[in-house]
Amino acid sequence: MTTEFQLIEAYFTRQPVRRDDVILGIGDDGAILQPPPHAAIVVSTDTLVEGVHFVPDIAPRDLGYRALAVNLSDLAAMGAEPAWATLAITAPRADTAWFAEFSAGFFELAARHHVQLVGGNMARGPLNITVEVHGFVPPGAALRRDGARAGDLIFVTGSLGDAALGLQVAQGRRALSSDAARLLLQHYLRPTPRVAAGLALRGLASACIDVSDGLIADLGHVLERSGVGATVQLESIPRSAAVLQCWNRDWNIVMTGGDDYELCFTVAPQHAARLATLLPEAAHIGVIDAQIGLRCSAGDGTALQPSTTGYDHFA
Ligand code: ADP
Ligand code: MG
Repeated sequence: MTTEFQLIEAYFTRQPVRRDDVILGIGDDGAILQPPPHAAIVVSTDTLVEGVHFVPDIAPRDLGYRALAVNLSDLAAMGAEPAWATLAITAPRADTAWFAEFSAGFFELAARHHVQLVGGNMARGPLNITVEVHGFVPPGAALRRDGARAGDLIFVTGSLGDAALGLQVAQGRRALSSDAARLLLQHYLRPTPRVAAGLALRGLASACIDVSDGLIADLGHVLERSGVGATVQLESIPRSAAVLQCWNRDWNIVMTGGDDYELCFTVAPQHAARLATLLPEAAHIGVIDAQIGLRCSAGDGTALQPSTTGYDHFA
């Protein structure tokens, strides 16, 4: 029989990253952490529930990666530099092969962003993963949802719709027969948190959010918090070659599908040239205006009537 402490020892204490600012890591009642002088700390947490946030047959390695990725995406959206994480796992049994794979996926991404796991919790129950991450920003430099102003330009990193189509592959609703379908599935299983983009946007973006629940919903949060509206040009929404190959031209999947974990942000027009140098890959998709609400239209004059406004756990 494997005990809780053997699991922690075997799969979570040996890790690729050792940070100097961790005075005491895993093993005591709490971790002792030494933030840099004057840094503000950004804290964010996310829970992944089987059947809600991931398909039951997901590979544990992908799940470990994903659990950290969605949290690092929140730090990216705040413009924070990732540093520490905690991990609480509820699992039905002490399946050592599962824990080995899960921790390998988690630490693969942790190593890439120099994140150290500094503590956590274990309990028996339905599979449920909670990660909390901590990152640094200079005081006043964090990117927030409430700074968008009329006239600001709206941008998005990467492309949208990949993960929503990838989820259809994961659910078996779409065949995994083409390279495009495999790319979409990868995009869903292993999102890339846009940490470097978030850091580049400090002092540049007036507002920022990560697109986890679909662009309509997440840009909507920015508009609401900032007290403004927006107009978005559908044709300017970046779509990958894989999306274009599998897409049925339904804008809903691109605009309301979740899980892409790209950044959507606004920039005052006078900073547009600097943005083009720092993040040339960001796509300009629309403009903030004073009229409340979000208007999405295509060049032929048709307006998007969203079939949903994004995922709500309690709706
Ligand atoms: P306590 O009972 O004081 O809350 P535990 O006995 O639950 O502590 O945990 C022992 C140590 O292992 C603690 O430092 C805790 O942070 C760490 N830990 C527990 N579960 C995990 C996990 N899944 N990943 C990383 N560290 C963990
Ligand atoms: Mg204790």
